[in-house]
Amino acid sequence: MKQSMTLIPTLREIPADAEITSHQLLLRAGYIRQNASGVYSYLPLGKKVLRKIEEIIREEMDHAGAVELLMPALQQAELWQESGRWQTYGSELMRLNDRHGRDFALGATHEEVITSIIRDEVKSYKKLPLVFYQIQNKFRDEKRPRFGLLRGREFMMKDAYSFNATQESLDEVYDRIFTAYSNIFTRCGLDFRAVIADSGAMGGKDTHEFMVLSDVGEDTIAYSDTSNYAANVEMAPVITSYEKMDEPEQELTQVHTPNIKTIDEVSAFLNVESSNCIKSLLFKVDEEYVLVLVRGDHDVNDIKVKNVLDASVVELATPEETKSVLGCTIGSVGPIDLDEVTVLADHAVASITNGVCGANKEDYHFINVNPKRDFPVATFEDLRFIQEGDPSPDGEGIIQFAKGIEVGHVFKLGSRYSDAMKATYLDENGRSQTMLMGSYGIGVSRTLAAVVEQFNDEKGIVWPTNLAPFQVHLIPINIKNEDQKTVGNDLYNELKSQRFDVLMDDRQERPGVKFADSDLIGIPVRITVGKKASEGIVEVKNRKTGEVFEVNKEEIVDLLQKML
Ligand code: ATP
Ligand code: MG
Repeated sequence: MKQSMTLIPTLREIPADAEITSHQLLLRAGYIRQNASGVYSYLPLGKKVLRKIEEIIREEMDHAGAVELLMPALQQAELWQESGRWQTYGSELMRLNDRHGRDFALGATHEEVITSIIRDEVKSYKKLPLVFYQIQNKFRDEKRPRFGLLRGREFMMKDAYSFNATQESLDEVYDRIFTAYSNIFTRCGLDFRAVIADSGAMGGKDTHEFMVLSDVGEDTIAYSDTSNYAANVEMAPVITSYEKMDEPEQELTQVHTPNIKTIDEVSAFLNVESSNCIKSLLFKVDEEYVLVLVRGDHDVNDIKVKNVLDASVVELATPEETKSVLGCTIGSVGPIDLDEVTVLADHAVASITNGVCGANKEDYHFINVNPKRDFPVATFEDLRFIQEGDPSPDGEGIIQFAKGIEVGHVFKLGSRYSDAMKATYLDENGRSQTMLMGSYGIGVSRTLAAVVEQFNDEKGIVWPTNLAPFQVHLIPINIKNEDQKTVGNDLYNELKSQRFDVLMDDRQERPGVKFADSDLIGIPVRITVGKKASEGIVEVKNRKTGEVFEVNKEEIVDLLQKML
């Protein structure tokens, strides 16, 4: 490809609204342009990289026994009403009407569509298991589209769905796709972890997220410093035993604590460790109020609260609700003398002796609080977020945190959709059974951005060879010089005939501009045709290492074969 024939609009300045490296570099190097918030065009270079990632995905999915198909982005509301998600998916679903006023949605995901197809076409256990995938634009009206391709409103996803007769069969397919995902992200050169995740709104049980380690990631991963245990911090169970303080229980006493609200203020004012304070948070759980207690140095994990109570919605009570239920502001809440409200406590609270808690009365706290003696607890459960330094839940090593970008997600959905949409098959005995399903997504455009996050330097992108938009960047420095022009053109034709993917900078630009653009674009090998062109000598530079060789043009093909 000649640069004069394509569009690579590079920018010198960092675009003002691009906060993170991948967004800045993809804009500056001319890979993408924004059309609307969270909506992007992939310019020719961006499209080429996207295709390379897609090809890796296709190879690995095909190898795992999945079969490609393509479903519509335009989906009739009836399907979403059948699954119940027309109501529950909320404003992330982009909804529209056709000319007859019928409701439609732009596909945010395709469980409904694929389930409706399989339910109609597959009737017998003999056809199962089946695994299908597609690569397609998805639409989600994200609350905060940001970070360029990392969180778009229209983005490229590979989504796959499995249909199984038995749990063993689902487990087996899940493992196969899990391996395919590991292969895909390894081939993309990414430093990633597969982490245990929460199934959230998808309603599944077993689920893993594939996280690319990166400081710009929105998720926190809790991982063991010695084993390969890794979980989304929202999910990681806390498995530790707490030592109960060995001191005599003292008499419960109310003390005046003027304007003292936070745990830090309480612990400073009363001169007690925050670990001996009880943090009490009022939650609204499916319209009922529940008081959740954790130790002052811990944080409540509302996902655990939700799971323990098997609830649909768990929200922190507002200051107004707190006032009307407990009669005080949030800083004075405590578990003593409550009649109407259920109290749940984290295991660590049981270890507190002569602790401190709010008195449900403005500007007062209790000291010498002893759980169970002074207030009843419905149950002690694992309700807190894991912290750095906690023992790893698999019993090996200590927990550390890292930030991650979720690039892939695998779920065992079970019968969540097949029940709702009546996807059944006849088993060996002719009895009707509900199919089991799995759902497996990869953010293709997000993966592209994640690669750029991990592969760059101060000059620009540094593509891994197998994802680069071109293999070779050929730069005749001065195209008005006959020797350079001839050697450049000859090399271009020679490399193309040898099936190298070459980009030739045939623009009439200053050398400084050409080199800066080339570094920004990040093609692995640069060949510069300069002053020594008349002697048949060109310069080869490795983008990643910066190594430079002078090479006779006859030796170029051999050298490239070694480098690539
Ligand atoms: P997130 O928590 O980041 O919103 P999700 O749980 O909503 O992700 P899934 O529904 O599991 O995502 O979608 C499958 C994959 O699609 C994700 O693992 C992610 O890589 C990608 N993805 C999801 N939302 C976006 C988005 N707004 N922009 C780009 N990629 C996305
Ligand atoms: Mg989401």
